[in-house]
Formats: sequence, C-alpha cells, structure tokens
Amino acid sequence: MPEYKAPLRDMSFVLNEVLELNAHYQNLPGCEEATPDMVAAIMEEGAKFSERVLSPLNQIGDQQGCQWSEEGVTTPEGFRDAYQQFVEGGWPSLAHDPEWGGQGLPESLGIVLNEMVGTANWSWSMYPGLSHGAMNTIEAHGTQDQKETYLTKLVSGEWTGTMCLTEPHCGTDLGMLRTKAEPNEDGSFRISGTKIFISAGEHDMADNIVHIVLARLPDAPEGTKGISLFIVPKFMPAGGGVGDRNGVSCGSLEHKMGIHGNSTCVMNFDEATGYLIGPPNKGLNCMFTFMNTARIGTALQGLAHAEWGFQNSLAYAKDRLQMRSLTGAKCPDKAADPIIVHPEVRKLLLTQKAFAEGGRALIYYTAQLVDKVHQASPEERAEADGLLALLTPIAKAFLTEVGFESANHGLQVFGGHGYIAEWGMEQNVRDSRISMLYEGTTQIQALDLLGRKVLMTQGESLKRFTKIIHKYCQAQSDNTGLKEFTDPLLTLNKEWGELTMQVGMKAMQNRDEVGAASVDYLMYSGYVTLAYFWARMAETAQQKLAESDSDKAFYEAKLTTARFYFQRILPRTRGLVATMVSGADNLMSLDDEHFQF
Ligand SMILES: Cc1cc2nc3c(=O)[nH]c(=O)nc-3n(C[C@H](O)[C@H](O)[C@H](O)COP(=O)(O)OP(=O)(O)OC[C@H]3O[C@@H](n4cnc5c(N)ncnc54)[C@H](O)[C@@H]3O)c2cc1C
Repeated sequence: MPEYKAPLRDMSFVLNEVLELNAHYQNLPGCEEATPDMVAAIMEEGAKFSERVLSPLNQIGDQQGCQWSEEGVTTPEGFRDAYQQFVEGGWPSLAHDPEWGGQGLPESLGIVLNEMVGTANWSWSMYPGLSHGAMNTIEAHGTQDQKETYLTKLVSGEWTGTMCLTEPHCGTDLGMLRTKAEPNEDGSFRISGTKIFISAGEHDMADNIVHIVLARLPDAPEGTKGISLFIVPKFMPAGGGVGDRNGVSCGSLEHKMGIHGNSTCVMNFDEATGYLIGPPNKGLNCMFTFMNTARIGTALQGLAHAEWGFQNSLAYAKDRLQMRSLTGAKCPDKAADPIIVHPEVRKLLLTQKAFAEGGRALIYYTAQLVDKVHQASPEERAEADGLLALLTPIAKAFLTEVGFESANHGLQVFGGHGYIAEWGMEQNVRDSRISMLYEGTTQIQALDLLGRKVLMTQGESLKRFTKIIHKYCQAQSDNTGLKEFTDPLLTLNKEWGELTMQVGMKAMQNRDEVGAASVDYLMYSGYVTLAYFWARMAETAQQKLAESDSDKAFYEAKLTTARFYFQRILPRTRGLVATMVSGADNLMSLDDEHFQF
C-alpha cells in the first residue's frame, strides 16, 4: 500500500534555515506567539494525523468514491470520522481570528499544515480546504451578523463551505453567468439557477454547508460588472444550530477522472434564501479574496503530488531488482541490481525531488507574503501584496504543471506496475490532473501573469521581484562556491526583463502576441523563480557544511539536487525562449476551417 511520511526535516530546513521563520514571526505584530517550539509541535502533530489517519484513507477514497441518493451524498468509509477528529483536534481554527473562535496563529502555519494534510489525501483535504476560502471571504466582506452566524461555525469546523461559480455554459468567462438573485422584503434574496462542478457541494461530514454563490441581481449590468456574491446555507441557521432545509440541493455527482473521494456536485438553487455579501455588483472583486487563497491552495496540490509520487517511487526504486548497472554489478549477491542504479531512473527521481523541494520553498515564501499582506505595516503590506499578485499565478500554474509531470515520473519508475491500481501511482496521476484546470486553467493563469500582472502594471511587481533576485546574486558575488548557481541565475533574471519588453512591444501592435507567448512566459518565469529558491537553498546548505559536520548527508544532498536543477532542468528555459519569441503568426495564420481536411 502506498504511504506518506511527512518530510519534517525538509520542511524545517526551508522554514527555519532558509526563510528564517522565527525572525519573520517575531517581526509581525500578532504572530509572536508562533515560537519555534510551538511551530515544531504543530508540525509533529499535523504529521501524525496526516500519516496515521488521512494517508490510509487515500486509496479507499479513490476506490469507493462518493455516493449520491435522494437523502444526500455519502463520503467514502472513514472520511467522516477523520473529519470529526480534525475538528476535535482544533485544526480548522488554527489560523483564524480569535474573535471568531480561531487560535490566531499565522496563515503561513495553516499552509504548512495543509501541505501535510493535502499530500496524505488530496480529496479529503478539499472539504476543509474550501471552508478556508469561504471563511476568508466572509471575514473580509461579511457583516458583523454574518460573521457571528456563519464564520464562527466555519472556524470551529462544525460547518463547511463551498465556492459556487461555474455554470454549464460558463467556466472561465464568469461574465456570462445566469444564476438569479431576486430581493425579498426582509432584505434576503431568492437564488435560482444551476451550478456545476461544485467541490464538496454536498456530503455527510458536517452539520451544515455554507455555499458562497455568484449570482445576478434583477437590474444588474451585463458581464462581470453585474455579478454579486451571496451566502446560501444548506440549512437555515436557528438558535446556534440548524433549522429548516433551504432550497438548495445536489442534483447529481459528476463521474470524473480522479479525486474520487471528493464530491463534485451539480447544485440546484431553487429560490433558495441567500444573503448578499459585500456591495451589489461587486461580487467578482469580493470573490477574488476567495480565489487567491484557493490558488495558493491549488499550487500546494502540485507540490503534494510531486512529493507523494517521489516518496513512493523512491522506495520502489530501491527495492525493485532489474538489470545490472552499466558500470558493473552493484549488488552481485542478488539476481539483479535495484533500479535506482540506472541513470534514467535517477533522472525520474531527481526531477520529482527537485520540483517537490523547490516547490516547497516557493510555497512557503508565498505563505510568508500572505502573512505580511494581513499583518505587516502599510508599506510592507503594499510590497508583499504586489509580490504575491505576481507569484500567485506562477505558483498555481507552474507548480501544478510540474506536479503533474512529477506524478507521471513517479508512475514511470514503477514500469507496468505503475499502471496497475494497487500501487496507487496511477491514482496520483489521475488526482493531480485536475490541478491544472480548476482555479483558473494554466492558460488563464498565464494570461493573468503576462497581461494583468506584468504588462498592465508596466512590469512594476516583476521589477520588484527581479530586483530581489539581482540583489541576492550581488550579495553573493564574493562567494565563489555559489557561482555555479548565481551566475546563470543572474543571466536569466536579466533575460526575464528583456523578454517581457520584447513581448510587450509586439503586443502593442497585436494583442494576440500576449496570448501566443503567455504559457511559455509563465513556465519560463516558473523555472527562473525556482532557480532563485534553489540558489538560496544551496547557499544555506553550503554554509551549514562549512560550519560543522552535523547532518552532512542532508546538506550535501541539497547541493547535489541544486546542481541537478541547474544543469538538467533549468536549460528548459532555452526552448521556452525560442517558442515564446517566435510570435503569434505560427498560431494564428491557419484558417479555422483548415485545421483538418
Ligand atoms: C473536479 C472539478 C472540481 C471543480 N470545483 C469547482 C468548484 O468548487 N467551484 C466552481 O465554481 N468551479 C469548480 N470547477 C470548475 C472549474 O473551475 C472550471 O472547469 C474551470 O474554471 C474551467 O472552466 P470550463 O471547464 O468551463 O472550461 P472553459 O472555460 O470552457 O475552457 C475550455 C478551454 O479553453 C481555454 N480558454 C478559455 N478561455 C481562454 C482564453 N481567453 N485564452 C486561452 N485559453 C482559454 C481554457 O484554458 C480551457 O483549456 C471544478 C471543475 C472540476 C472538473
């Protein structure tokens, strides 16, 4: 049976040694309570829960899936119990405001916990994961009364949340949505319409479900400027608990490729009672609070599948005996050598390792930016906000693309056995595939990055980030041992700005140039961003090795993996540059009618 072991040593390396978590928390008002001891204790307990409770349910969830009936949806065996334990352990309230029953710990700590929970069992993790976004939306835009009624229940974990955007005819283009919200005399609204693909839309894990729904008021303008946001509970709140059933129900479950343990629901709203959150017609702006949280959460999914595939394929590669090493038998007493001796198998393993560990550094860095956006001084907050806006589409799309690639590599290590369900590797590939689709497809994230975040701001945040990288490389200029990393990083960092200018100039003549360059640009940005974190990790490892012999093998492995990343992965940027600057014509000149004869 596939297993998960929380990589606590690596997590602590990134948090404490590279990103200096303690200093980060001590500098942020309200985060001082998160002392190193407390963080370590939370990580250890989170690891136990993920390894012992959630990981064993991962395959069961895939095999059983969720079941629909007139009465509701039942989740796979063990999911409900695990959720009860999660709630009793106080995990949902970890990073929420004490005013609403939270423990007031930093958001970044919640993200670290989610890495373990999500890697152990992604489908299960989506139930509390969606609640988290609902909480952030109500906290940011809800009234005092809405917070007291809904937020407290979501924070305690007694109720869960959803995000209801997608309709049959509109996914990416939310401006086309049709769900209606008609005013009642008491200030509430009647919500009517059909939403599809709603994750955790109906289940048996909590007493109530709080749907956050996008809908249109009767006099709303066309398009995205006419969308409002509503809270629609499954059961009407009553006396601190639940009362009558509201007019919202799950019509059916989608039959899908992966994440079978998570219910993906068609939700019918039939004059359901809803309550406006935030100003009328500004729903999409309010929803962005939800979506940004969700996008970091989805970036985490890329890391989760890379880590899970890596751990299981590494164990297999050490165990499976096939063929002899090209340089002579390594285990002459055995019938053959373990497959880990073969260079191409090592490439599959190291690629997964480089993406998982590099992705962890990128996610934890964005998590610290999230803390700053919420808690730092106004100047620091503005800077963090700009960087987070730039790095969110990179983290979401790049890490999910390479997470899927890694999951595939994990399967490949198993050979034909990887294709057989029992080993769990094909589940990992299937489960990871959705991450490139929901929360904005890779193509949409790429347009967001290049169009909205870079070109429309005259590259302001990009300049800020490339300046950070430049200053870092400059500060290391006397460190000859690090040159193998900082020299190529410096060159790519400069090139990143030049490519942006080049695409931006072409886009002034033809807007299709933005679309045509966008995914290549995003992937290029991802490789350079990860190179920055690999350089920083290499620097820390080098320093530690110079200081003492303690944990030598760990730090040497870091340096070797950094070298692998720079020599074997980073050269992919050359291909991306060539395709990115090749222009829109090779994509746009073929007549739609001439694609096929
Ligand atoms: C398992 C699952 C769970 C989900 N969970 C939720 C949920 O909880 N809540 C929710 O509201 N939704 C959810 N979704 C919906 C998901 O967010 C949408 O499927 C996604 O946003 C894409 O929309 P679409 O499927 O309609 O594709 P479309 O928007 O029709 O896009 C089709 C293709 O066209 C591309 N495309 C579209 N426009 C452009 C453009 N301008 N430039 C370049 N390419 C473009 C897209 O990238 C895509 O490849 C879920 C979906 C699934 C499958």
